[in-house]
Amino acid sequence: MDGLMMDVPLTVPYLLDRAGRYFPDVEVVSRRPDRSVARSSYAEVRSRAHQLAGGLARLGVGRGDRVATLGWNHAGHLEAYFGVPMMGGVLHTLNPRLSAEDLAYVVNHADDSVLLVDDVLLPVLERFHSQVSLKHVVVWGDGTKVPPGMIGYEELLAPEPGEFAVPRLDEREAACMCYTSGTTGRPKGVVYSHRAIVLHSLASAMTDGLAIGQREVLCPVVPMFHVNGWGLPFTATLVGCKQVLPGPHLDPESLLELYVAEGVTLSAGVPTIWLGILQALDRQPDRWKLGPVRMVVGGSAAPESLIRGLDRHGLRVVHAWGMTEMTPLGTVSWLKRSLEQLPEDQWYAYRAKQGLPAPLVETRVVGMTGEAPWDGRSAGELEVRGPWVASGYYQAPEHADQWSEDGWFRTGDVATIDPEGYVKITDRTKDLVKSGGEWISSVELENALMGHPAVAEAAVIAAKHPTWDERPVAVVVLKEGGSATAEELRAFLEPRFAKFWLPDQFVFTSEIPHTAAGKFQKTTLRHQYGGILTGQPPPGG
Ligand code: AMP
Repeated sequence: MDGLMMDVPLTVPYLLDRAGRYFPDVEVVSRRPDRSVARSSYAEVRSRAHQLAGGLARLGVGRGDRVATLGWNHAGHLEAYFGVPMMGGVLHTLNPRLSAEDLAYVVNHADDSVLLVDDVLLPVLERFHSQVSLKHVVVWGDGTKVPPGMIGYEELLAPEPGEFAVPRLDEREAACMCYTSGTTGRPKGVVYSHRAIVLHSLASAMTDGLAIGQREVLCPVVPMFHVNGWGLPFTATLVGCKQVLPGPHLDPESLLELYVAEGVTLSAGVPTIWLGILQALDRQPDRWKLGPVRMVVGGSAAPESLIRGLDRHGLRVVHAWGMTEMTPLGTVSWLKRSLEQLPEDQWYAYRAKQGLPAPLVETRVVGMTGEAPWDGRSAGELEVRGPWVASGYYQAPEHADQWSEDGWFRTGDVATIDPEGYVKITDRTKDLVKSGGEWISSVELENALMGHPAVAEAAVIAAKHPTWDERPVAVVVLKEGGSATAEELRAFLEPRFAKFWLPDQFVFTSEIPHTAAGKFQKTTLRHQYGGILTGQPPPGG
């Protein structure tokens, strides 16, 4: 039919063009490793992204070539978010917390040609540099710590003031890529198209997405190397809001100081970060004069006690669920208008669920006997479909079975859906405790334990058991000055769970190891404590 709409490609450079044109003076603030603050603006980020694109072209980066980054959250990284896709390159963000072996693997697997690295992260590069064949390494920083053979970032940008001639980009070509954290097996590569990033930015900006408009002051604590910083640098640029990029200092006090100094209204990160912030606020409630800050919490389940605790300080949690394979936004837990009248307890229970799918994302739960009913009880594997969900892993056909025959992605998360359509994640398929043929959710036990006033963090793992195959064991870190015995914790859980769910043992420790993305490292815990009920020492330990 004629007379149709224009077929304008949805591409990443548009996002920055808009911010540069309509919000040129809006600030992009970065905290440097030495804690000093650098101020840039969208006009400046745009012109420097063009200079970067020119510099990379001079280095020989061509269409589809991968440019890796190893950097904290700062304006230079934001310039790369746009400068690389703008010239047809593919931005590959590397997670500095991965092992040297995994970093070498992903750089080689992605065939990265150039790396942009923070000078403070050069020691991380040193650990795997000899195992990869990068053509050029460009160093972010003040230019004083550029090792011989590498190029200073400002030097790369310098000769090219003005506009880079942006090629005609296809919305279906690759703009970015990111590897999963690799908690089981090798990390897997996910490739984001320009189109997926633009659509994802629109959905996350929506009021019922993460509600991000130009008036916000956004501080993404989630690192820019983790799923494109949950897409937030793209969304913030699309809407033209002020960005506060916190650099490497992510401890509660440094963050709270930054929120106050820069007037942050919206922040985002994993529950561990917010648990730390809550403890700092509980200890010194009057120290930081915060406005009403919203906290996007994702990456792991937000315990109800965390949501309640932050509410007490006027900080409102927005609970979201997503995955590297989903750019990452999947669901957000906003209350439907019809649920607002519920009693407070039920209201909090809804906010602690993972929520309703973002527009354009579809969800279903598939159990042993097919699609599970929306009854809030029938559990199965959560499957998703949508325009920003991966259709395969980069060069890894062996993982094709993670997609169903009718084109849904199998997330590996166990979930229920209630009659209102809210998704509740009850576990990862591999973290479920299988006790005598029954499933026990480690996540539900953990979240309940973290509601105990003396508990800072708790992780529940499956330990081998001679009769029941597996039984839950809780690994607990108490708050500073807090005290609780195993009996007290068991009694605390007793009223909420079936008897067979209660952990067989409570292990008290000073620290729970976290993955590169800030989640509990359950593989390490299983290794340490998986044999605790059968008296077996950890293999090799
Ligand atoms: P990643 O790809 O590293 O972002 O990890 C994605 C996984 O993190 C998901 O499959 C979930 O298991 C977990 N996850 C993310 N957000 C949440 C959430 N809000 N609640 C529970 N689990 C979550």
